[in-house]
Amino acid sequence: MPKEVKLAKFAGFCYGVKRAVETAKKLKSENPDKNVFVLGELIHNTDVIEELESLGIKTINEIPEHGEGICVVRSHGESPEVIDKINAAGFELVDLTCPDVKKVQQKAIELAKDGYFVVIVGKAEHPEVIGINANARLWSDNVVVASSVEQLQSYEREIKAHKKVGVVVQTTQMLKTLNPIVEYLTSISKELHVANTICQSTAMRQSEAKELAKESDLMIVVGSKKSANTTHLAEILKNITKTIHIENDSELDDYKSIVNNSQNISITAGASTPQSVIEKVIEKIK
Ligand code: SF4
Repeated sequence: MPKEVKLAKFAGFCYGVKRAVETAKKLKSENPDKNVFVLGELIHNTDVIEELESLGIKTINEIPEHGEGICVVRSHGESPEVIDKINAAGFELVDLTCPDVKKVQQKAIELAKDGYFVVIVGKAEHPEVIGINANARLWSDNVVVASSVEQLQSYEREIKAHKKVGVVVQTTQMLKTLNPIVEYLTSISKELHVANTICQSTAMRQSEAKELAKESDLMIVVGSKKSANTTHLAEILKNITKTIHIENDSELDDYKSIVNNSQNISITAGASTPQSVIEKVIEKIK
């Protein structure tokens, strides 16, 4: 029997990533004589970073004292301190923070200003979380980051001492992470405000992939292992069916027998995975 291979509708670039990549390219083509820098990798994909480099768009990891040209803030967003540094260095700043990430930053600021004890659900080291945390901390010291109930338990005394607790979530987090945290906070806080800031694009990608997983004997998740949303996607699907997470078609060779023994294969991909990488995976399976 021939294999059935399906591709998810919501696979690959989300609108925030698409907007960042297209705008960076446009900036360089409209300003060929200017330096165009991106602070940190624009997206977690080596092929895309190399393509940008070949167009003259360079990734920098630190802000020099004096800068010349354009400096792009990527879709993850930055802290106000970093934004100030980019301006102070003399760069022309182009802020490509995803509008959905901006909304989380704004919500966290709002809660901090209104006297809430703010809980940011996410991993402290994630660049988006660093930006949200720094923005909220401009207004209040009562801001913590946690990705599990265990982590939050160390703040139980402070939480109980506050009248109001507010929650925001990093955009690509899983509901599975948010729900137990909300349940725990409900049990220890007097007033709880939860802003579910998981972005639509992430929510739709995850729910579609879950449905596909139910009818597939193999799910293939394509995308960088450094990408939080791709890794989360693979984690969710592993609980439903056999799932492999690969960065590109060449990694498929490591899973030859699994692929050969599967009949209904579905493919999805993270928000930073280019269409060309997904197509090569499909071609190889076929
Ligand atoms: S995953 Fe969501 S929040 Fe992140 S860049 Fe894409 S659309 Fe924006």
